[in-house]
Amino acid sequence: MSGKYVTETAPANRAGIARAASILRAGGLVAVPTETVYGLAARADSAPAVEKIYHAKGRPDFNPLIVHVRDADQAARYATLSGTAARIAGTWWPGPLTLVLPRRTDAGLAPAVSAGLPTVAMRVPSHPIMRALLAECDFPLAAPSANRSGFISPTTAAHVLASLDGKIDLVLDAGACPAGVESTILAIREDGSWEELRPGPFDLTALRGLPATGAPADPAGAPVEAPGQLASHYAPGKPVRLNSQEPTSEEFMIGFGSIPGDVSLSAAGDLAEAAARLYSCLHDAARSDKPRIAVAPVPGDGIGIAINDRLRRAAA
Ligand code: AMP
Ligand code: MG
Repeated sequence: MSGKYVTETAPANRAGIARAASILRAGGLVAVPTETVYGLAARADSAPAVEKIYHAKGRPDFNPLIVHVRDADQAARYATLSGTAARIAGTWWPGPLTLVLPRRTDAGLAPAVSAGLPTVAMRVPSHPIMRALLAECDFPLAAPSANRSGFISPTTAAHVLASLDGKIDLVLDAGACPAGVESTILAIREDGSWEELRPGPFDLTALRGLPATGAPADPAGAPVEAPGQLASHYAPGKPVRLNSQEPTSEEFMIGFGSIPGDVSLSAAGDLAEAAARLYSCLHDAARSDKPRIAVAPVPGDGIGIAINDRLRRAAA
């Protein structure tokens, strides 16, 4: 793909991490591995750098970004972590859990990070390469998924290049992302209650005992607060049929468990493996010469909730 940049790929070793940090420091764009998916990072304290993320992704400017930091202390420089938030952060960071928190008025973050909201989404990732990169950066990193807006999320460097080659400075290649679906997002309300805005790898049953606002947010009913939850997202560019037992001759089949396919999310019926392979299978289906995609049923418990959430949006 042609573009303004020649996109480099660097292995995730000491030299690659140093190169990534220096590009980011200068306001550039680097695709970075995390435990969830590859992120498209820029320094969150620079308006021109953050603007480049929206431009490279073709992301609508009403869709805010997640800010990645080293630890809860660094998060507290940008957001207010009181009560419930501090307890959740102290217990479950680092990990695939994003907290939407009141944004500090003296945060010094690029306004576009929050897309006009009074809140900011913060995460402390656990991926060792992302942690090593954050340790080298004396600034926070805004990073949405490293794909063209609305398209399938990337879990390998090749997936990133498939939609952003020529549009970013560097891909830091650390192989496949272990969890494979985007972080769980929780909004922490002023009264200390919380609400799930997006299901993900973090198991919410861990939060039992903490006050909650009750039912999880209805994704269709909360487009203003969590615009990334738009009904159509993660789209492979072809019709997707869910809960299929068998493909038609026109369909590329994504199997699960005992239901076979051209590829399988997990032949063993393992939901963690299915999450890790979800976007890879969708990328394979998008690239195939079949005009349609069928997907076997996936059980809706544990990480299966997040898998089915992404599949529904891919099919919408
Ligand atoms: P992505 O980084 O592509 O996974 O998208 C980030 C997700 O975080 C989107 O669903 C956003 O809507 C959500 N998000 C980021 N910041 C906020 C915020 N301040 N309030 C609510 N949702 C947010
Ligand atoms: Mg995304």
